[in-house]
Amino acid sequence: MKSLTHLPNVRESMLYRRAADDKVECILCERRCIIRPGDYGFCRTRLNIDGKLYTVVYGALSAIESRPIEIKPFFHYWPGSTALTFSTWSCNFSCPWCQNWALSKVSPDPGRMKFYQPLDIVKLAIQSGDEGLCASFQEPTLLTDWNLDLFRIGCSRGLYACYVSNGYMTLEALKALWESGMDGLKIDIKGDSEVYERFCGGIDVEKVWRNVREAKRIGFHVELVNLVITDVNDDEECLRWIIDRALKEAGPDTPIHFTRYYPAYKFNKPATSIGTLEMAYEMARSMGMKYPYVGNVPGHRYEHTYCPNCHETLIKRYGFSVARYNITEEMRCPKCGTNINIRGRYVRKGGFLPLL
Ligand code: SF4
Ligand code: SF4
Repeated sequence: MKSLTHLPNVRESMLYRRAADDKVECILCERRCIIRPGDYGFCRTRLNIDGKLYTVVYGALSAIESRPIEIKPFFHYWPGSTALTFSTWSCNFSCPWCQNWALSKVSPDPGRMKFYQPLDIVKLAIQSGDEGLCASFQEPTLLTDWNLDLFRIGCSRGLYACYVSNGYMTLEALKALWESGMDGLKIDIKGDSEVYERFCGGIDVEKVWRNVREAKRIGFHVELVNLVITDVNDDEECLRWIIDRALKEAGPDTPIHFTRYYPAYKFNKPATSIGTLEMAYEMARSMGMKYPYVGNVPGHRYEHTYCPNCHETLIKRYGFSVARYNITEEMRCPKCGTNINIRGRYVRKGGFLPLL
């Protein structure tokens, strides 16, 4: 076991506590695994070696790609920009519908992973013309030790930094990320407590909502995403509960995306009906959310941003492209002057669609 510690991707974890009998408590995510010597935690990225906790995925990337920020989806954060997007392996949840299962359901093999230096990834982002860095695809919390080093370097060179997350990190991890320069956080809301218990592996939904609340309080730009899954969380009662909690914990200015599920991994229920997504959108709007969206339905009118006051069309999108941007430099509606919740500036890149 000791022989692993010479590997560049095996580093002592930042967030853990020692316990009796050489056990350790991982405090990176709210599973808070108690791990015996020689054992891994639930996610199989954290290993106890002789009473110390190590991450085996420091800089061990499974994918790297420049992607539009709208694909995350972030609709109110650096609109039109691209982020160098990357991931490691595995996950701390067990969702059977995972759309990224080829990465999230794989246990890392410490001796067989390619290691990347943070500085090389920052240089790659700048050379590629990206405005930011985004940890995504599987759960980025598991890559946090490396992300902290990456974000410190990247943000000092003018890049933004964000997570596309299930929102189950500890407050210690959340605070460390903020201090590293990260300021964008997309959190998945999977359903009510029964959905989390039954499908995600005994997860406490209240910890997710606490992180939504805390992230807003600290100053993160937060967007919420609810993958609406047929026969799991698509009933009116569950959707109403999600919207009600989003209003209370995140506030009406927070964008909320109701995205279409397609069968994947171990789940073969039919794709979500468009009518259900529209119902969720209209319910959110009538309950007071200012920026609801329908996702994964390219060309739908609910992909656009409308002024919550006068209903002027502010951002027209088609899928992950911005087709028209109509917000003043002061982030106001050009027609009625209402302040619009946008973090970062609009980046106009080539290859846009004609005006819709
Ligand atoms: S990060 Fe992994 S090892 Fe640590 S508490 Fe979460 S699931 Fe357990
Ligand atoms: S939290 Fe996300 S990455 Fe992890 S299993 Fe669930 S859907 Fe997949």
